[in-house]
Order: sequence, then structure tokens, then C-alpha cells
Amino acid sequence: MRQTLVAGNWKMNGSKAATESLCKAIIAGLNSSDTGIVVCVPYVYLSDAAKLTEGTPLDLGAQNVADQSSGAYTGEISASMLNEFNCKYAIVGHSERRTYYGDTNESVASRYSQAQQQGIVPILCVGETLEQRENDQTFSVIDEQLDAVLNAAGIESFAKAVVAYEPVWAIGTGRTASDEQAQEVHQYIRQKFAAKNQAIADQLQILYGGSVKPDNAKGLFAMPDIDGGLIGGASLDAEGFLKIYSAS
Ligand code: 13P
Repeated sequence: MRQTLVAGNWKMNGSKAATESLCKAIIAGLNSSDTGIVVCVPYVYLSDAAKLTEGTPLDLGAQNVADQSSGAYTGEISASMLNEFNCKYAIVGHSERRTYYGDTNESVASRYSQAQQQGIVPILCVGETLEQRENDQTFSVIDEQLDAVLNAAGIESFAKAVVAYEPVWAIGTGRTASDEQAQEVHQYIRQKFAAKNQAIADQLQILYGGSVKPDNAKGLFAMPDIDGGLIGGASLDAEGFLKIYSAS
């Protein structure tokens, strides 16, 4: 049985005060034995969030990481910097990064490796746009996104990584994939890994992301190849986020 994971992606939301109240409210709703729950906060709040979450069941993550280890890369944050703030996870390849900031399959593969070199678990996001889905390109797009990382880092690297399937058309739109639509892609991803290494495929956590809410989480998480979720908007409300976590 795979351990589930529910990750909140706050995106560019919040403030110092909101970071404190949200972390405190989430932690207050957890038992000391809880595992598999993480918040990915804006870089500038990592320091505060690290202090608030230390010694609690709530893990901490970043929303991206640089594709280089150090040097003249203005505005970037390296994996070793993240490591100073108890970051257990870093999202890489989120569709908003790919669409608005030009993150390519190749740079995503480098970001993934940079995270792993510092012992940070990358949450590698993949997913198709609506146009690609309508043109029957869903699986080929996901193949390209995964192959870039598989070719650069190897199948064994996925023993210490998480994959998140986030159909772009379902992100922030309120239009979630149906349980079956999501399962179909999750199964495809797992089988792709299984063809290379069955043991790694069996233990790989594959999260679903895209308009997950307290009322649809249970159905999605009940699917055999969906191991939890990457939650955007609904992770900004502690009660709702905790409900989603309870469904995992
Ligand atoms: P929403 O849950 O707001 O649709 O966002 C999903 C997402 O992009 C998580 O990374």
C-alpha cells in the first residue's frame, strides 16, 4: 500500500500574517501521528513557515527551485538555500511556470536533479492543455514531459520523487477531471514507469491536481493509481485543506 500525500500549493498568495495563521490552523487540526501533508509556500515565507512547522506533522515545500547550483542567476533560489529552511519538497515543472515563465522540459529536468542532489523530493508536474486533450495528444505530451526527466536523471531517481498529474484545463477553473479521466492518466503514467522498473512504479506517489475540493477529493483519492493531491485554491483555507487531507 502506498503512503498518500496531500500537498498545498499556495502559489503567489498570502502574507506573513496569513502564513502564520494558516500554518497554525492546519497544525492544530493534525495529530502527532499524521504524515503525508505538506504546504508549498512562497520563498519569502519559508523562514517563518520553517519555524512554525518544525517538530510538527506538517511538512514544508517550495514552489520551484533553480536549475543551477549557484552563481550569476538573478532572482533564482538554489536547492541548497531551500535546504536551510527544512524544505522536504520542491514543486518543479508546474504548468504556470512552463506557461508564464518559460520553464522547458529540459530546465525542469535540471531543477528536478538540483533538488535531489540536496535531498529535496521533487514534485514533478505534468499535464496537457485543453487543446492538446482535444487533439488526442494527452499521452504524447505526458510522455515528452516525463521522458525529459527520465533521460536526464534515470528511472532510479523516481525512488525519491513524486509525480503530479495536473491537467492544465482543470487548474483554477473549477472544472476538475472526472475520477475516471484522472485515473486513466495516472494508470498510464504508472505503467510507463512499470515498463522500466516495476518496484519503483509500485511505490511511486502520483498526485492529482486541478480543482480538488473537499467535496470531490474522496472520489479522486479512491482511484487505484491516485495517491493524493496537489491542491491550489482549496489549500488556502485550513478547514477545507484538512478535509481534503482526511479524504486521503
Ligand atoms: P487549483 O486547485 O486551484 O485548481 O490549482 C491546482 C494546482 O495548480 C496545484 O498546483
